[in-house]
Amino acid sequence: MSHLVHRKNTRPVKVGPLTIGGNDEVVIQSMTMTKTHDVEATVAEIKRLEEAGCQVVRVACPDMRAAEAIPEIKKGINIPLVADIHFDYKLALKAIEGGVDKIRINPGNIGRKEKVEAVVNAAKAKGIPIRIGVNAGSLERRILDKYGYPTADGMVESALHHIKILEDLDFHDIIVSMKASDVRLAVEAYEKAAQTFDYPLHLGITESGTLFSGTIKSAAGLGILLNKGIGNTVRISLSADPVEEIKVAKELLKSFGLAANAATLISCPTCGRIEIDLISIANEVEEYIQKVNAPIKISVLGCAVNGPGEAKEADIGIAGARGEGLLFKKGKVVRKVPEASMVEELKKEIDKLAAEHEEK
Ligand code: SF4
Repeated sequence: MSHLVHRKNTRPVKVGPLTIGGNDEVVIQSMTMTKTHDVEATVAEIKRLEEAGCQVVRVACPDMRAAEAIPEIKKGINIPLVADIHFDYKLALKAIEGGVDKIRINPGNIGRKEKVEAVVNAAKAKGIPIRIGVNAGSLERRILDKYGYPTADGMVESALHHIKILEDLDFHDIIVSMKASDVRLAVEAYEKAAQTFDYPLHLGITESGTLFSGTIKSAAGLGILLNKGIGNTVRISLSADPVEEIKVAKELLKSFGLAANAATLISCPTCGRIEIDLISIANEVEEYIQKVNAPIKISVLGCAVNGPGEAKEADIGIAGARGEGLLFKKGKVVRKVPEASMVEELKKEIDKLAAEHEEK
């Protein structure tokens, strides 16, 4: 096994039509909040997630009703579906039979060898991967006894234990997560994992908190890892609407140039020179560009003092100027627009640029 730390040096693993690992892309995931057996509600939630930019979605699979709902859910959605199973191999078999694109199960928790083999053989037959989810909060007793408390080494040892079970059955389509709610523990565990094996890593800080605190914790931890080239897929865990998880993940990936087709907003921090209602404009534009799938940089500035020149790298932008707005491109003012229609004009220009990118 190699000891490479960059994400593209990981093993490529297919999840539906996507490849996780083996490249420099980072796939965005989320998990539904609905009861999985409620197909209508689950599909509706997944549709919202797809629209927000979610690339892979996971559903909890706590009982047979949930596992049996998988074929119907698959019919209603367009992105790969992952079934989250804890112990019960029968649920795993049902989910695989139902056409799920990946399962999350720890083989060491399944029990007897025949049961593990049954799951692995079914996954092999369908060509679907297994994600091993190591969690600092639920390490094996044996490992906890050895280290005394959850440590990064203990988490890696746990991952290797589950990996070995799969490798012994000649199964290698493996993705691994090393989650912890303690940011520094999670970072250390992922770093050690990246140095120890080359299976792709699914990043996440678990139980990270609400939209506000969870966003900061996740960005702090995952930022360190992404910047080092670690991580092939991310899930931001938030006690919030899962659509918010996608928005945070997209923004985080954008910060590291890892979201290929996403628009970015640059907005000024505001000061006493402000000439327009910048905060609400910035929020409106930010919301608008969520669905723009083109690498456009948009700038929104409170005034023109240092205005357009300050945002030379922006493809398009506006700056406030006493009751009106200056529309500028690449740092040069192209025309003046009335304050009342400033945002609409900017949106039109964004759409034009996005259309040009699509044509290319
Ligand atoms: Fe202040 Fe103008 Fe700079 Fe915004 S662009 S921070 S309002 S000087």
